[in-house]
Amino acid sequence: MAIATVNPATGETLETFEPLGRDALELALGRAAEAAVLQRATGFEERADLLRRAAALLDAERDRIAVTVTTEMGKPLAQARAEAAKCAKALRWYADHGAALIADERPSDEDVADSGAAFAYVRYRPLGAVLAVMPWNFPLWQVVRFLAPALMAGNVALLKHASNVPRTALTLADLFHRAGAAPGVFQTLLIGSDQVERVIHDPRVAAVTLTGSEGAGRSVGAAAGDALKKSVLELGGSDPFLVLPSADLEAAVTTAVKARIQNNGQSCIAAKRFIVHEQVYPRFASAFARAMRALRVGDPMDADTDLGPLATRQGRDDLSALVADALRHGATAETGGDRAGVPERGWYYPPTVLTGVSPEMLIHTAETFGPVATLYRVNDLAEAVELANATPYGLSSNIWTEDPEEREYCLRELVAGGLFFNGMTASHPALPFGGVKNSGYGRELAGHGIREFCNVTTVWLGRP
Ligand code: NAP
Repeated sequence: MAIATVNPATGETLETFEPLGRDALELALGRAAEAAVLQRATGFEERADLLRRAAALLDAERDRIAVTVTTEMGKPLAQARAEAAKCAKALRWYADHGAALIADERPSDEDVADSGAAFAYVRYRPLGAVLAVMPWNFPLWQVVRFLAPALMAGNVALLKHASNVPRTALTLADLFHRAGAAPGVFQTLLIGSDQVERVIHDPRVAAVTLTGSEGAGRSVGAAAGDALKKSVLELGGSDPFLVLPSADLEAAVTTAVKARIQNNGQSCIAAKRFIVHEQVYPRFASAFARAMRALRVGDPMDADTDLGPLATRQGRDDLSALVADALRHGATAETGGDRAGVPERGWYYPPTVLTGVSPEMLIHTAETFGPVATLYRVNDLAEAVELANATPYGLSSNIWTEDPEEREYCLRELVAGGLFFNGMTASHPALPFGGVKNSGYGRELAGHGIREFCNVTTVWLGRP
């Protein structure tokens, strides 16, 4: 895939970039190795100051940065602004809390004595240079939620961003440079995915984190395994949205629409499969289809737009093919289902609700990365949970119920990294984020995220 800025609202190529050659990559890796030595000697306050300065720049330049994001990947401008603001918040959160999250840990005096030591504790030391392979869908947030804890822990970062968001990738590196990051502390590498394996194998790189598709996860996980390096994989999802009879139906419908179309439907944690109890199905289905039909599709720079274009032509075509396959096998489009009525130019796809989906259709288990919802009717909670679990993914899940017993049942039986009751899945710096099954492994954010890229070191001091 060429490294280029292509406006998804028009299909126009605005700028292309040459990937780093061997020498430039070598230089960057060398700089990262040197920076890692200096960075591990810095204190928490110095690291926190850098994060706070970067947050201040992000706030001050939010509008400009949001335009870059929307131009490259098509999310509505207000959502790009909100993403930048969320990044500034996470930077400050780790600046405030990072030190405490990885402070030395002491076992009880009794256990220390039992180990034969005069003194023993655990210190969280940095690993060194961490490679981050990131996707385009939240091109600021995906980077910052890795970067803030990684830097706070004393690591340095190498970013290989998705090939369609090079301007955003360079903007982030420039922002940290202006915030005072020493050379090599955070570098953007303009490289293709074919160069990732080589970087993972480089001895100067200690670990890798990837947010992206299942296929990319398999490649990066295999390379990290082969190189015996720590990896974190945040992969795809096909999150269920369960609606049970005790739910506040009006709130459930409003949230269902938002959860499906946020980020033009291109979010790993978007609700994608709507599984509704038969008692409330008719009311939910008609209100949901009506609300999806009413969404305004158009220019993402326009403040009235609910749904912009998909980020890439390939993404639009893949989604189109999944819907066509479902319709061919007997599904019904309650709204949408073909491109009639959306702008000709650019990679738009209409909000779509499919019913009558069955297991032989690809869409039953595939991730729909765009504004397409599948709607299922079930007889009881057990059937709802069985259907919810019937995909290869296990990222998050949304459950609408006021019944504590139903909640307990879901806590026991739903296989996912997150359970969000009476709301939609969202990430927050204080809450760990990640999945199980083909949604990957490891966690980002909170204390779990900062400890992923630490060398958990046992320090033991013998008795005199
Ligand atoms: P993608 O094609 O997997 O790309 C993600 C990143 O991986 C890009 O930087 C890409 O580089 C790189 N890449 C792709 N194939 C690779 C390979 N074989 N080896 C090494 N690197 C490789 O994913 P996407 O289409 O951009 O993003 C959408 C996917 O990300 C969806 O599945 C979504 O659910 C998932 N996602 C997950 C989370 C989460 O937190 N769980 C969050 C957001 C998105 P190039 O661009 O150069 O190909």
